[in-house]
Amino acid sequence: MNSALPLIWRKIGQRYNLEGNKCETCKEEFFPARKICPTCRRKGKLITVDMPREGIIYSFTEVFVGPTGFENETPYFLAVIELNNETKTRILSQIVDSDAKDIIIGAKVKKTFRKISDIDPEGPIAYGYKFKVMK
Ligand SMILES: [Zn+2]
Repeated sequence: MNSALPLIWRKIGQRYNLEGNKCETCKEEFFPARKICPTCRRKGKLITVDMPREGIIYSFTEVFVGPTGFENETPYFLAVIELNNETKTRILSQIVDSDAKDIIIGAKVKKTFRKISDIDPEGPIAYGYKFKVMK
């Protein structure tokens, strides 16, 4: 990665493609990408990989009081999603476009693009990944 690139551009892969990385030595996958494998340390060889676009809800919570930029979106559902990769990487994401009754532990979800917030320290509007329940 070129460190001279503005932060927003360096983060695009991570935000739009669920770009994480994988340690070729122990096969563990990470999202967000890590600089070093916590298991292999210097022996680990990290390569960029796209995380799968589907997974299941591992746990979730309904948020009634949102942080700055999210006030108009409450209540909303925030879930820990276990992705369909070999090491079942877990990521935190908002669940959108889904009936509340369908948001249950074990429900299959897939990635969708949505506006994340009107206020973003790196730009006027932040876009990125969110997930919705598959029908
Ligand atoms: Zn490793």
